[in-house]
Amino acid sequence: MNWESRLLSEEELNHWYGTESGSDREFEMSSDQANPVATAPGSVPPPKGGTTSELAKALIRQQVATWPMLREAVAGLEEVAFKHFTIKGSDVFAQFNPARIVSTAAKVDAATISQRPCFLCAENLPAEEKGIAFGDRFAILCNPFPVLLDHLVIAAREHTPQAIEGKFGAMLDLAEGLGEDWFVLYNGPRCGASAPDHFHFQACSREGVPLFNDFDFWLERDSKENGFVVSHNYRFNLMACGGADRQQLTDWFARAIAHLAKLTNSEAEPMLNLIVTFERGQWSAFILPRGKHRPACYDAEGDAKLTISPAAIDLAGVVVVPQPDHFARVTAEDLEGIFAEVGLSQDQMNDWLKRIQESEQ
Ligand SMILES: [Zn+2]
Repeated sequence: MNWESRLLSEEELNHWYGTESGSDREFEMSSDQANPVATAPGSVPPPKGGTTSELAKALIRQQVATWPMLREAVAGLEEVAFKHFTIKGSDVFAQFNPARIVSTAAKVDAATISQRPCFLCAENLPAEEKGIAFGDRFAILCNPFPVLLDHLVIAAREHTPQAIEGKFGAMLDLAEGLGEDWFVLYNGPRCGASAPDHFHFQACSREGVPLFNDFDFWLERDSKENGFVVSHNYRFNLMACGGADRQQLTDWFARAIAHLAKLTNSEAEPMLNLIVTFERGQWSAFILPRGKHRPACYDAEGDAKLTISPAAIDLAGVVVVPQPDHFARVTAEDLEGIFAEVGLSQDQMNDWLKRIQESEQ
């Protein structure tokens, strides 16, 4: 099945618009599954020319109603257990999510990748999986292994490697299109992407994600000017940049990444995760630079072993722990250590900031 037959039109999503924006999480199926019109919640005529956000919400309703695997996964997400920690004054949740073992423990070496069918190419998706177009180059899909509410995967329609160069602008556009209910994330090919061979973003509901509380002072800033900050004594060292000028932001991002590559001696893309939000007419981009893909405890034996493989969502404060015994024993100290181990030091952050500032003079 190619993308043309996977992608639903606005007309096909007509009956999946809800009466409320995203808050109606009731997906009760009637026995009349053959007729989605009859089972759609709040069937109201859609606004003319639905926004990306409205279309994505309609897609989620359609997919939950017609794709049993996704429906079970979304229902399962309501049952996951959490442990709450406070690390350096900010909230962190460990999430016991056994279904995520496929991603957390994914083998992403070149040999393994070359031998499996790509699970983001149109011809390999499950028959029930549908999407919506985002521009000419991307398809918005539902993630069948969700970590957060309304978890989307935005896949390139071409099988092309995970690399952010030339695509940060698309990430900004996606964040703008999805609006204030979502955040968009990118996991680098060596920093948590389980499909390093097929370019993709993800997007999730911001609901309950600690990063956005921690940085509300930044998200609610008044200035429309582009600007950036480096975190100090935060539980994970990151750089936030934002503003209302798309071109300035993409230029700034290219410069920041080039300096990060030099600082970390990276020949290809420096190791990183990215998070972008859009609200009140401006973007906020969080660059989460990495020193390491997986912490030492990932490969440890016995009681020292913790199968935790941090990517953007984990660093935003929802740490996925797929193994029950690991979930039982994980502590705040473990997570604080993991964040420090896979990130950059404050000295490296200051050095990075200085290089960017000097290049701007
Ligand atoms: Zn592919």
